Amino acid sequence: MKFSEIVYSRPDMDAAKAFYAAAAERMAAAPSFAGAERVFLEAEAYSAKLETMLTVANIRHDIDTRDAFYDAEAAFIDAASPELEEYTNAWDRALLASPFRAEFERRYNRVMFLNTEIGLRTFSPEIVPELQRENALTSEYSKLLAGAQIPFEGRSWTLSQLAPVKQDPDAARRRAAWKAEDAWYAENAARLDAIYGELVGLRTAMGRKLGHENYIPLGYDRMSRNCYGIGEVEAFRAAVREYIVPIAGDIYRTVARRLSCGLPMGYADSAMWYTGGNAAPVGSPEEILAAGGKFYHELSAETAEFIDFMFERELFDVLSRPGKAGGGYCTSLPEYKAPFIFANFNGTSGDVEVITHEAGHAFANYLARDIVPAASQWPSMEACEVHSMSMEFFAEGWAEGFFGADADKFRWQHLADALAFIPYGTLVDHFQHECYAHPGWTPEERNARWLELQGVYMPWLKPEPELGFYASGRAWQRQRHIYMDPFYYIDYCLAQCVSLEFWAMLRTDREAAWGKYMAYARPAGTLTFRELLKQAGLGDPFEPGALRGVAEAAKRWLEGREGA
Ligand SMILES: [Zn+2]
Repeated sequence: MKFSEIVYSRPDMDAAKAFYAAAAERMAAAPSFAGAERVFLEAEAYSAKLETMLTVANIRHDIDTRDAFYDAEAAFIDAASPELEEYTNAWDRALLASPFRAEFERRYNRVMFLNTEIGLRTFSPEIVPELQRENALTSEYSKLLAGAQIPFEGRSWTLSQLAPVKQDPDAARRRAAWKAEDAWYAENAARLDAIYGELVGLRTAMGRKLGHENYIPLGYDRMSRNCYGIGEVEAFRAAVREYIVPIAGDIYRTVARRLSCGLPMGYADSAMWYTGGNAAPVGSPEEILAAGGKFYHELSAETAEFIDFMFERELFDVLSRPGKAGGGYCTSLPEYKAPFIFANFNGTSGDVEVITHEAGHAFANYLARDIVPAASQWPSMEACEVHSMSMEFFAEGWAEGFFGADADKFRWQHLADALAFIPYGTLVDHFQHECYAHPGWTPEERNARWLELQGVYMPWLKPEPELGFYASGRAWQRQRHIYMDPFYYIDYCLAQCVSLEFWAMLRTDREAAWGKYMAYARPAGTLTFRELLKQAGLGDPFEPGALRGVAEAAKRWLEGREGA
């Protein structure tokens, strides 16, 4: 079955409500584990069909937002889904209350119950007004950024169109692009301050209504954190400051020498890895896709089977077209046990990332396709990012196919970028904790704290008077996760630490590294992140020793190749 051949019909939401209500009652009344399991499996099959239809409609809407039919379907789903939540919640509660929970945990897994408990803690009808206002504000933020029209070189540019120019090897052009972007953000700074201020207030109110002192515990629950808390994250941040910040500092010392720009450096210079320009992919979007196919074919038997499955069933929509929604993601169609990748190729190294990073997510989902319940086919977010960020490192062996003569430049840049990302991502996390711990802060207090923390995590950067928006401590306002998905950022940092372990293993033994990757990926969401690491024999990023180990190996490799 190809994606285009899947027949969509609008799900009957009243029938769905009746189904979940009846299933909850039948679960509560089941006299034996066998009876309860029958209801559970029926609900699984029902949910797989329903979710597949909803996902198909949303994907087709994203593929052509001008298509009136799917536009109406997407609007219908947006309106109908929150109403259904009450019924699926009742079903979740009935499953949690089952006297056969121990049997379910043995036959299926324990984590599905853990996650359901956490999920139920995040909702109460009392917080519906805050949730609605939160949606309106995050949509406003998203639209504001998507609608940016930035005057530059005599025409209007969107933020994503301007992004490659911000890495232009011509320093004057690059600085001009940063200035143009800065001016647009500065014009909108007051609104960006106000949106975030209101979001912090709303989220704090929700946290308090659910019995917490502030938003932070609710934020952790909304991220489905099921194996670590605030204390572990604080210790991780301390280890990042101790082991990773100095190495990132060494990387920027090398970059400053290449660019002859001195340290600390401005934003426009920190966007460059090389004087002559960063590594760029060669070939058309079709050729990049074909290079991706070759990589997965040659990497392993499992990935070869996966990529054939994806191509045969046309489970990609990655070429940019008029009317197509922006961005990229990987999702899944549980009824067909198939992942789906949506993206917008634009001729930058981001295209390679789609085929290495997003397809890494898709591969992990393909491996887990037979796990019941379907909810356990994906682990929590930090665990998922290991699948994708590590796959990017496995792909380095095929960098010639993607980057041609720039392959070595790419390998240095990729590792440098991976290391330098960790302090930035940790700063984003630290800043958010401070904002939610101090919900009464004014915009000026928040921005001052960002500047202070930036000095700790990214001491190689200097605020420049000509970039007034950045110099005022508002660089965080470009980071959409801070508005849209609070606390979703440390996930990338934790995952990056694990993927750097794969990077180190790949220097010596690719077979062994692949064995560990498969051992880590196979159990999917039936285990927590830390359990996945442990059973695969991988280091736990919450142990400072693991962080120090990967940092030192990477530092040695980069130092040996400074002149690039
Ligand atoms: Zn990802």
